[in-house]
Amino acid sequence: MTCTTGGCLCAAVRYTLADAPDHYDACHCSMCRKTSGGVGFGINVPDGGITWEGAENIGIYKSSEWAERAFCKICGSSLYYRMPGDGERPDFLSLAAGSLDDLEGLTMTTEIYIEAKPSGHAFAGDTKKMTEADVIAAFGGS
Ligand SMILES: [Zn+2]
Ligand SMILES: [Zn+2]
Repeated sequence: MTCTTGGCLCAAVRYTLADAPDHYDACHCSMCRKTSGGVGFGINVPDGGITWEGAENIGIYKSSEWAERAFCKICGSSLYYRMPGDGERPDFLSLAAGSLDDLEGLTMTTEIYIEAKPSGHAFAGDTKKMTEADVIAAFGGS
């Protein structure tokens, strides 16, 4: 059983997940690199799958036409990347995996925007690697 609780560094924002995640993914795109200060690690959370405490401390930055990134207004920790649903499709929410209280027991399965990964680092282990074009083909763009 993996962890279902997490929050930001200062604990002004806390959350509980409805279902325990079993994996996380890495994104090497320049926006995830900048906002995380390294590599963006995300856990996909289904609509309604997360309960927030201290939501008034969540700051929202609209990082593109279609998506927003959330952070703690007090300590600055990254919290999630979200594409709001439009009625036809549900919200897409990728929780900042490092905000989980404990990542032990989870596996990293996929690396996306692999062509943007700096050559100075690489992950060990056998992950599925997808380029931007692969991601757009798989998830329908935007
Ligand atoms: Zn905080
Ligand atoms: Zn990214």
